[in-house]
Amino acid sequence: MIRGSCLCGQVRYQLDGAPQFINHCHCSMCRKVHGAAFGSFLHADGAGFRWTAGEELVKTYESSPGNLRAFCTGCGSNMPVLEDEGSHVIIPAGGLDDDPGVRPVVHIHVASKASWSTIGDGLPQFDAFPPDEFGAPYTKED
Ligand SMILES: [Zn+2]
Ligand SMILES: [Zn+2]
Repeated sequence: MIRGSCLCGQVRYQLDGAPQFINHCHCSMCRKVHGAAFGSFLHADGAGFRWTAGEELVKTYESSPGNLRAFCTGCGSNMPVLEDEGSHVIIPAGGLDDDPGVRPVVHIHVASKASWSTIGDGLPQFDAFPPDEFGAPYTKED
């Protein structure tokens, strides 16, 4: 079991079952919503995801058609989003309270990278969406 929560602690969630991977997205929307150089996302089968507290505090914002961003209305923390009718969940990795076991595998939308940010690891980088072996199509929603 992997647990996560928001900054104010009112929203909590957990993931049962193995997560798939973490990716780093450098697109301008992920940078804005995270307030950071890039967004880091844990991907997993949505069937293993559930809210354990405060789901009613979670609101969504449609940053582009069909692409939802979720946040805690108490503190503004990024929150998980269920996609594909709940079959897939994308969890902002910074919200995790447990080590998910998996590690980042790729940087995506690197063409949109912040000018002041330098990628210092050896992971593969792609200007936009990655090839299938790096988790497409789900990474397209980041
Ligand atoms: Zn909160
Ligand atoms: Zn992004």
